[in-house]
Amino acid sequence: MKKITIAIDGYSSCGKSTMAKDLARKIGYIYIDSGAMYRAVTLYSLENGFFIENAIDTALLKAAMPDIHISFELNPDTQRPQTFLNGRNVEDAIRTMEVSSHVSPVAALDFVREALVRQQQEMGKAKGIVMDGRDIGTVVFPDAELKIFVTASAEIRAQRRYDELKKKGQEASYEEILANVEERDRIDQTRKVSPLRRANDAILLDNSHMSIDEQKEWLTEKFQAAIHG
Ligand code: C5P
Repeated sequence: MKKITIAIDGYSSCGKSTMAKDLARKIGYIYIDSGAMYRAVTLYSLENGFFIENAIDTALLKAAMPDIHISFELNPDTQRPQTFLNGRNVEDAIRTMEVSSHVSPVAALDFVREALVRQQQEMGKAKGIVMDGRDIGTVVFPDAELKIFVTASAEIRAQRRYDELKKKGQEASYEEILANVEERDRIDQTRKVSPLRRANDAILLDNSHMSIDEQKEWLTEKFQAAIHG
């Protein structure tokens, strides 16, 4: 059966990766979480002192870009993809509030986007890929056969992220998360390079009032329609 490219974009914490991962597993496609790559560059910047009073020193980061190597490997026990930064498993380290609250300015830098988009396009060269992010259907794979744009209210997204962090046993404040979700939306939508926007040919999904199972089913139907269409 022919393999296609599936691009899933949308706002932060709207459940994109849950649906994308599930679909990829079901249909035997590669899954790539492009947000994890921006998060890994942010973690590297934090660990190497590139942030000075919350502002990123772009010259330092630009010089370091060739030393930042990001890869994904499946966890043999859970079969879930994990993010590696220069050979170190950073899957948990990139999901903290600290990284979440520093990632958007890093993702707004043109040289960061150029480097990561190039790697993402390389990963998708053979098709058979599900990638989620902000600019997958618009910039990374503008010719993707199936494009989805996911949204939900900021309050519902903040609640979901709060529940997720709590489940992992991490400290979290709902108000702080809501402020972070809204701030990231603002920066992602208004940045100059590849702002978050829906591609003209993307199918819109507002999942504010959908269960995870309903979303998964909805996406499987769209996939079936795309490969048979
Ligand atoms: O998807 P996630 O929330 O983990 O992404 C973290 C951040 O990375 C986003 O808030 C956004 O600033 C950035 N991002 C991006 N382009 C992508 C994926 C993520 O700018 N394709």
